Amino acid sequence: MNYPEHIWHNGQVKPWAEATVHVMAHGLHYGSSVFEGIRSYATPQGQSIFRLTDHLQRLHASAKIYDMPVPYDVQALAKGCRDVIRANGLERAYLRPIAYRGLGGFGLSAETPVDVAIAAWHMGPYLGPDVLEAGIDACVSSWQRFAPNTIPAGAKAGGNYLSGQLVAREARRLGFGEGIALASTGLLSEGAGENLFLVFKGALHTTPVSAALLNGITRDSIMVLAREAGLEVVERDMPREYLYLCDELFMCGTAAEITPIRSVDGRPVGTGKPGPVTRRIQDLFFGLFDGATPDKHGWLERV
Ligand code: PMP
Repeated sequence: MNYPEHIWHNGQVKPWAEATVHVMAHGLHYGSSVFEGIRSYATPQGQSIFRLTDHLQRLHASAKIYDMPVPYDVQALAKGCRDVIRANGLERAYLRPIAYRGLGGFGLSAETPVDVAIAAWHMGPYLGPDVLEAGIDACVSSWQRFAPNTIPAGAKAGGNYLSGQLVAREARRLGFGEGIALASTGLLSEGAGENLFLVFKGALHTTPVSAALLNGITRDSIMVLAREAGLEVVERDMPREYLYLCDELFMCGTAAEITPIRSVDGRPVGTGKPGPVTRRIQDLFFGLFDGATPDKHGWLERV
């Protein structure tokens, strides 16, 4: 990664190297951070951040779950996002706002200060250079997602990504592009950092929020765009073998965008190539950024 020059930290844009954390920070020891991944795109109206307000509201929701008071409201964080993009002269960016329990007191319930940073840098496709076109080979992980009422899957908290690391690192070690996790019920959940859509007979089927997953903003956007385009969208529990039997399969997320999956556990998905519904969804989604898809919902927020 080429580090950008500037970063936003506790209300100020400062040199990247100066945004440091003490080794005794609570967040480092106990995973007590909440964060977001957000992308901006070059659009005909100028650079726009995709669903910035929704992402920052989710950051506040994640913090609420952990009873972590974030000292900046959504508006102040939105300004921070814009400021750090501008300070780094980026034409498009991946933004990473993070609020974390810092230094102060000791122990799990310590009321430490909550510090906030926002980094922004250029990032291409998350899962590899040509994956949006070619798709990836995925596997089902030997690691399951958290059981209900253990670690809240609906919070985007740093500690959750211990699970994600196990899933993603196992998949890479075995030579796969990404891992898919099952919920503690044994039913499908989501990818290490992506939600899932399966296509059966032209309809989109996605796993429900009760299946230990993060309620993705890309997932929501796809459901809205697909329904507006007249496609059927169903949220439902599905067994593992549906990954092998569906006509098409893709992952989605801010980082992964819309990444087709061409095989699971060595079995080809459909024809083994990204199919027409996946392509349609990619066109609708990426069309938001070149103007081909009208931005009916005000999802593009200008830098
Ligand atoms: N699930 C997990 C575990 C994730 O980390 C992400 C990425 N934030 C997603 C799903 C997709 O969420 P979104 O579309 O909001 O980026």
